Amino acid sequence: MLTLTAALVDVPSESHDEARLADLVEEALREQAHLSVERLGNTIVARTDLGRAERVLIGGHLDTVPSAGNLPHRVEGDLLFGLGSCDMKGGVAVALKLAAAVVEPIRDVTYVFYEGEEVASEFNGLQRLADQRPELLEAHLAILMEPSDAGIEAGCQGTIRVEVTIPGVRSHSARSWMGVNAVHGAAEVLARLGDYEPARPVVDGLEYREGLNAVGIRGGIAGTVIPDECVVTVNYRFAPDKRLDEAIEHVRGVFAGYSVTVVDESPAARPGLDRAAAREFVAAVGAAPRPKFGWTDVARFAALGVPALNFGPGDPSLAHAANEHVPIAQLHSCLTQLQRWLVGE
Ligand SMILES: [Zn+2]
Repeated sequence: MLTLTAALVDVPSESHDEARLADLVEEALREQAHLSVERLGNTIVARTDLGRAERVLIGGHLDTVPSAGNLPHRVEGDLLFGLGSCDMKGGVAVALKLAAAVVEPIRDVTYVFYEGEEVASEFNGLQRLADQRPELLEAHLAILMEPSDAGIEAGCQGTIRVEVTIPGVRSHSARSWMGVNAVHGAAEVLARLGDYEPARPVVDGLEYREGLNAVGIRGGIAGTVIPDECVVTVNYRFAPDKRLDEAIEHVRGVFAGYSVTVVDESPAARPGLDRAAAREFVAAVGAAPRPKFGWTDVARFAALGVPALNFGPGDPSLAHAANEHVPIAQLHSCLTQLQRWLVGE
């Protein structure tokens, strides 16, 4: 595992520049007679086709953020350092090893190694598959091998950003009684935010924590003008008990009476722990799952009706850091646990 992960780290694969690594991954997978391999851009899909009752998907992205002078890899004690070691070539190494080693899984497996995760959605290889070849992503459960400290992080919260516009009437500040100050009007919007009590919904036995927060405010025209508009940007992080449209409705309700414009939206993903495949996976890992508060690509599966979990080696808080590293022991434990689950031991 150490040699393989180190080799993956040492092939640079910054976003938009994954071709060489994708070539190597494709080549390695094509050597496996038990896998059928397809490629779309720099995204590789390898599948077993044993006619099993269940299919699971194991995925990871090939790209990294730009180098922070942390190439090539280095090993210090039981840690492997280097660009992408944590996010997420350690996880990719585990998935590649599984793809080669597990020839007769008890559930069919689709392995997805994709490009463009660290950049805008339009470049995301998983999204491209979802748009162009959704049948390749069909599964009863997906596991994304993003770093989760080798524990299960289930589902993910959704996020929307809205702009709440407070209207006013412009006038000279020397005759302010002729105007209506939109910036003063923002006080009411901020008061609603201050009074808001974020929910803590329980989904599949996991408690999520929501948040509704102002993340920006703008208004004002000149030093002598009563402003006729103020805009408060609000971010709502919502639990996977709500669909995207329900989350948007909820925010509109909080700011009833104001114009609310949605400027960014990403759905939440249900943890899917009610599915047999997920329950058995939790049993194989032997540790209680935690809710995922951030947003990850698992939500792209939600849109396809596939429940998804995050499970991979490495501390997520080290992702994108210059000193990112992965504990070698976690590479082994993740491999062993997934292998046990796939062969049903
Ligand atoms: Zn990542």
